[in-house]
Amino acid sequence: HLDAAEKLVNLVGGRRREEVVHAVDDVSLDVREGEVVGLVGESGCGKSTLGRVVAGVHQPSDGKVIWRGKNVAGLSGAARRDALLKIQMIFQDPMSSLNPRMRVADIIGEAPRVHGLVPAAEIPAYVDEMLQRVGLDPAYKTRYPHQFSGGQRQRIGIARALAVKPDFLVCDESIAALDVSIQAQVLNLFMDLRTDLGLTYLFISHDLGVVEHLSDRVVIMYLGRVVESAPTEALFSGPNHPYARALLDEVPRIDRRKREFQPVKGEIPSPLSPPSGCHFHPRCPHATARCREEVPRLREIAPGWTSACHLNDAGA
Ligand code: SF4
Ligand code: MG
Repeated sequence: HLDAAEKLVNLVGGRRREEVVHAVDDVSLDVREGEVVGLVGESGCGKSTLGRVVAGVHQPSDGKVIWRGKNVAGLSGAARRDALLKIQMIFQDPMSSLNPRMRVADIIGEAPRVHGLVPAAEIPAYVDEMLQRVGLDPAYKTRYPHQFSGGQRQRIGIARALAVKPDFLVCDESIAALDVSIQAQVLNLFMDLRTDLGLTYLFISHDLGVVEHLSDRVVIMYLGRVVESAPTEALFSGPNHPYARALLDEVPRIDRRKREFQPVKGEIPSPLSPPSGCHFHPRCPHATARCREEVPRLREIAPGWTSACHLNDAGA
């Protein structure tokens, strides 16, 4: 049951003001080995924060991140570093995560060398292998990041992550910044890597078409909380939670390929002061007085399928 805070920086009357948002609020999430879990929600719902907590980039304010029986969030020093090597994060913007002054060979070869994962003499051949794995010509390794296209840079970012031999990739909007034609290629690369290397994924995206295509299971967040979690097919053929229904039902299947969510009716409330009770109540057509007061808990509505809505209570 994770909690995490994020600082939100606002400009108020020309002055910088920092406010702390309870970005992840009592979230419980499990990902099984070999699974692809899609994590979706509108911007500000906490999905990126949750992804960073899972990958160890951001510390939770409360709760545990259990990786193969160990609480990674509680580890420090070498134990933490070793555990976290197995969980790699792929970000949206490869340009900002690649050092512009390093050649590709060093970007990819550095971590395996520093962590002693590959003998020093074998690093050059290992870099070639990583580049080939992501579909890039090893001859490119003497170049710098700015000499590549966006899609190629994302492949370099993926090669760098793979170089430390991870088991689990947390992808945060990893294809969102790419041209649509390139997106499909990078998605295919992710899926090939899953088959070839047996990788597990937490795939964070606002693109429902991509998530439906890719995921075994989908988790939907709204203002810091998980509202529904279900096998992909079940969710897309009949979402339970009113928020999930608003997201999915109103979107004709054909339109899901479009990049953005169809807007759900009503404004997203500020994450700084989320509505009481069920956070969704101001936008929910089924809201009752109880919804304004009582937080609905996630409950199992079918095997492997949970939803957090008072309508699921017996007799409701
Ligand atoms: Fe709507 Fe109430 Fe269910 Fe929240 S708990 S989604 S407000 S019906
Ligand atoms: Mg985000």
